[in-house]
Amino acid sequence: MSIKSELLLAKFAELSKDPLETAKKECEGKGVIAVSGMYLPEELIHAAGFMPIVLLEQNEPVAAANAHVQPFMCGYVRSLMDQAIEKKLSFTKAVFVKDCCHELRMIGDLVRHTQGDKVNIEFFFFPVTIKAEASKKFIAEEIQNMKERVEKYLGKKIEEEAIAESIKVFNRFRLAMQELYAIRRNAPGCISEMALRDVVRAVMSIPKEKATDMVLELNEALKAELADGTIKAKKGPKLIISGSLCESLEPAVIKAVESAGGVIADDDLYVGGRYFNTLVDEGEDPMTALTQAYIYRNGPCCTQTDPDNRNGFYLKQLAENAGAKGIITVVIKFCEAHYFGNLADVNDLKANFKGKVFSVFTDHDTDSEGQIATRVQSFIENL
Ligand code: SF4
Repeated sequence: MSIKSELLLAKFAELSKDPLETAKKECEGKGVIAVSGMYLPEELIHAAGFMPIVLLEQNEPVAAANAHVQPFMCGYVRSLMDQAIEKKLSFTKAVFVKDCCHELRMIGDLVRHTQGDKVNIEFFFFPVTIKAEASKKFIAEEIQNMKERVEKYLGKKIEEEAIAESIKVFNRFRLAMQELYAIRRNAPGCISEMALRDVVRAVMSIPKEKATDMVLELNEALKAELADGTIKAKKGPKLIISGSLCESLEPAVIKAVESAGGVIADDDLYVGGRYFNTLVDEGEDPMTALTQAYIYRNGPCCTQTDPDNRNGFYLKQLAENAGAKGIITVVIKFCEAHYFGNLADVNDLKANFKGKVFSVFTDHDTDSEGQIATRVQSFIENL
């Protein structure tokens, strides 16, 4: 008979199989507003009574989009285009596209063109130099601007109290996920990385209240099963996984790490820890709190520059906190922002981190499982 955590994880796995179908079923008649790209204040969508979801890549290889999008675009944007061509985004009220890179900016326009007036594309822009004084003002205005654009779909103003309430809902969700990650950090391997990937994909596609309840139940089950010895931490060299920006971590990397005996103790992924690692201040005026949270977010991102807060040092800290000996940075093919960011991260890590660092390149469509497995295995053997 399956243990409780396995049963709960099976529910997450089911929800994460087809995120858009899940969102349609789970939105309880509320309109859905999706976000694409990393770090958007979903609280504003929630406060308007819509269900926010994060658009993810499909599991299937990119097909129809190949006729519309250059092959030298990342798999995430090509998969988004595929979903648009297949008219899978038409059920949303709007899609907010964060201007993380040139590729996302382009895809927003292409999706708008492909779907005609069926998908409302709203661009959301953060300056690259995130902490410059002029940028801070711009970010405050852009968050206000997003609020006004959500109000356009709502047909009335979003009350300040509703935003404050949504911040609480999201913080409660973030704390539940942070607790799950702490459980994994303290007993790495007690939950498989694929299962954790399913959890994060699922919680991006369902109401945050339901996500929180499900995660809290899972946390209780894992804690009880660890305490009575039903499940245990896995032995093996501990690792941190970073990168993969907008896209879920390629399963081939997880398989390669686990079959080589490595244990992932923490991650620095957007479809992972980065999605929930920053709380929004509940004691502040809600719009100011959101602005501050998105300027001073935990974990610098290579799509923005922050010379005083380099990602290599953040990764070093993450690895040391988890007792990890190695860091694997995962670079998605044609993700230009990460090509440059990764070089700086690796240089900083080589100079400052006592463990080892290694980069692996993944592609949504290319079957490079064998090559990834060989390279990851040799890295883990040398830890
Ligand atoms: S994965 Fe990289 S290239 Fe693709 S949309 Fe995200 S930031 Fe842009």
